[in-house]
Amino acid sequence: ADRAPVLLLDQVSVVYGSGPRSFRAVRGVSFEIKEGEVFALVGESGSGKSTLARVISGLVAPETGSISLRGESLAGAVKHRSAEQRRLIQYIFQNPDASLNPRARIGEAIARPLVHFFGRQAAKAREEAGDALRDVRLEESYAVRFPDQLSGGERQRVAIARAVVMRPVVLLADEPTGNLDRNSGAQVLALLDELHAQGLTLIVVTHDPAVAR
Ligand code: ADP
Ligand code: MG
Repeated sequence: ADRAPVLLLDQVSVVYGSGPRSFRAVRGVSFEIKEGEVFALVGESGSGKSTLARVISGLVAPETGSISLRGESLAGAVKHRSAEQRRLIQYIFQNPDASLNPRARIGEAIARPLVHFFGRQAAKAREEAGDALRDVRLEESYAVRFPDQLSGGERQRVAIARAVVMRPVVLLADEPTGNLDRNSGAQVLALLDELHAQGLTLIVVTHDPAVAR
């Protein structure tokens, strides 16, 4: 109870489309997530979980309601959020192919945002990308590979590494084990556990109560 709220959603509603064919996917959702918490958003398929995840990350603007991060109001659309606000919320998708450019080598994919956001020298960024790979239990030699030379579980761990180098306060994972076999899924959940132990606030979207637990 004494922890500071990190993310606040107040009466968020989302409508897709307009006119007679519009569809209300989320109606008046409010919740508060505190620093260092693991917040599981659980529900059956089609209940609007990913829609809420898109609202938090700014990919979909809510029709009504508001979002704030550490007490600062967040614009609905990501293009109206500051670079710093975008850095603080990182997300990983069920399908890591959606977050990895197939033509960029793994090391490059992790190093580029370090150069772009933190102004790192190229060599230093490459070194940190190597560290980030080791943190997700991948050998540094993976840096020169392309995404299609990795397994699904390895790609998901790269997506986590790339999110974490941004030093976010909130990591949002939408069905992070959805496309993985049991063993790869367990590795991904173990990594998320580790990040939580290091103080990261986690939002995990899942239809699976076992994953939530
Ligand atoms: P979940 O992640 O819980 O499975 P979603 O948030 O993906 O649910 O979807 C919630 C509802 O919104 C579903 O009925 C889905 O068909 C609908 N929906 C999702 N995206 C769109 C879209 N871009 N346009 C219209 N309807 C959508
Ligand atoms: Mg979904």
